[in-house]
Amino acid sequence: MANRYYETQKMYNNGQFVFNSLNGYNEAGSAQSKITIKGHLDDFSIETLYSNYDQIAHNLKVYPTITIYPRGYELKGDMGGFYHPQYNHIEMVDHWYLITILSHEMRHAFQFIYFPDLYYATEYRSVRGYLNSEIERDARGYSLDYCIAKGYKYAEEAAYNREHEEKIELVLQNRLSPSVLELSETYFSSNPVVAYSVPRNYHWQNYNQSYDQDYDQGYAQSNVVYMERKSLWGKLVDGFYTLIGCAGLLFIVLIILGLVIYLI
Ligand SMILES: [Zn+2]
Repeated sequence: MANRYYETQKMYNNGQFVFNSLNGYNEAGSAQSKITIKGHLDDFSIETLYSNYDQIAHNLKVYPTITIYPRGYELKGDMGGFYHPQYNHIEMVDHWYLITILSHEMRHAFQFIYFPDLYYATEYRSVRGYLNSEIERDARGYSLDYCIAKGYKYAEEAAYNREHEEKIELVLQNRLSPSVLELSETYFSSNPVVAYSVPRNYHWQNYNQSYDQDYDQGYAQSNVVYMERKSLWGKLVDGFYTLIGCAGLLFIVLIILGLVIYLI
């Protein structure tokens, strides 16, 4: 995966990078039309949020909707931000280092939309597993590169990101407790992420289906369903139906065989 700001930009310029509107979930639009602010957010933060959203969206070709909550609001797992792939939506909490969270979560949208095979290949059930996963490393890397690329304005935020990364390395080496990063171990053990395999063109296949008349009715709803990760139970049910299907086919083949033998 191209995991750096400039690499992505290069891909963009080379025209190898084809925009995907994700059945309307990733329709191009301005920050004003995409961001919902809950509670109070000062003018400076709003301006910072809007201008950086537009720049990152243009750079990554992602246009997620965002809800931003006031400081003190708690998201699940004590996360600063959360990306919901099924709606291409980000929830985030106002923070001193707002651009780090914004660029990190928008990078997850980029991973999901353009590299679904890698996005879904992720698996973890602990804080350490989460921090060490490919998509988290890539999102943190992008945040740092973005702050550096923005120059002196975000030098302090870049320095914070570097320090944070050093702490993460110590946690991964078991030399520091995950609690230092204010991440809840219980959350990760009770919400494990299971990997499964999808092709790189996963979304394009589904995108094309929506042009089929039969899929038009209620497709918005099925669109949400197809992107949700299948639970173990779902897989078992699918397997069960496949078995029934096979048994049915075998039955028909046996009847035909029986008939042929009888006639001979
Ligand atoms: Zn993340």
